[in-house]
Amino acid sequence: MLEVDLHSHSTHSDGLLTPAVLAARAQANGVKTYALTDHDELSGLADARTAAEALGMRFITGVEISVSWADETLHIVGLNFDAQHAAIVEGLREVRKGRQRRAERIAADLARVGIEGTLEGARKHARNPELPSRTHFARYLVERGIVSDSNAAFRRYLTKGKPGYVEHQWATLPQAVGWIMAAGGMAVIAHPGRYGLNNKERELLLGDFRDLGGVGVEVVTGSHTKDQYETWARYAQRFGLKASAGSDFHGPGESYLDLGKLPELPYGLTPVWAAF
Ligand code: AMP
Ligand code: MN
Ligand code: MN
Ligand code: MN
Repeated sequence: MLEVDLHSHSTHSDGLLTPAVLAARAQANGVKTYALTDHDELSGLADARTAAEALGMRFITGVEISVSWADETLHIVGLNFDAQHAAIVEGLREVRKGRQRRAERIAADLARVGIEGTLEGARKHARNPELPSRTHFARYLVERGIVSDSNAAFRRYLTKGKPGYVEHQWATLPQAVGWIMAAGGMAVIAHPGRYGLNNKERELLLGDFRDLGGVGVEVVTGSHTKDQYETWARYAQRFGLKASAGSDFHGPGESYLDLGKLPELPYGLTPVWAAF
């Protein structure tokens, strides 16, 4: 088991646990090096650091930035940066403003198929008013009994081509990588196997990302199958990128892998955490 987990979510974005409770769970599960990576938000980091360090863990500053790239939404994880740096603080503030406008459009789209009141409903589930997420819409649709679980909410609504999915312009890839680098951190492509990219698009993304100064890809993540660990290990080697690992834990019962329950990286990779 790895003693590292560099991808997790708290109530400051779409996770179910507070930063302090998450840190305690990480420590109980054997984590020694831990990062909180809330979506587009840094407000949970101070509490997470206090709790993690009190428990004797090494805490790494983190974030997961929403990016639009070639018709896809990508997630770029930033690690080990200065969370007070103006470039990333202000960049993310703009991304969160975009989230508010998108939430209104998602609610309007759901209203068109007869599901009213979802903006207020989703907002009730979002503990951070600056961060309404599709996850909060999903939890509200479950609460209303419109779907039986979150997965069904995404399958029937909220994803491309379904009611409740709206196109949205997030940060650009150069912006996200640039903010992370300006703040002294490392940029990592989150769960690269999850995007609908063909081989050519994957190569284009990895090349672009590396040219911008990106340094790593997640290889071991709760969003990859075992086969995908191998696939992305080979891409990392081919493109001279380091490997990251994180559960992408959102809460008990909501995630495939529990916090800190990660297998070792495939052989022959340079872990991003070797540089911490
Ligand atoms: P947003 O950033 O608001 O578009 O929401 C994206 C979040 O929704 C992801 O970070 C996941 O936590 C969650 N999510 C996306 N797709 C699914 C899915 N198919 N099933 C469950 N959760 C999902
Ligand atoms: Mn999420
Ligand atoms: Mn993600
Ligand atoms: Mn995530």
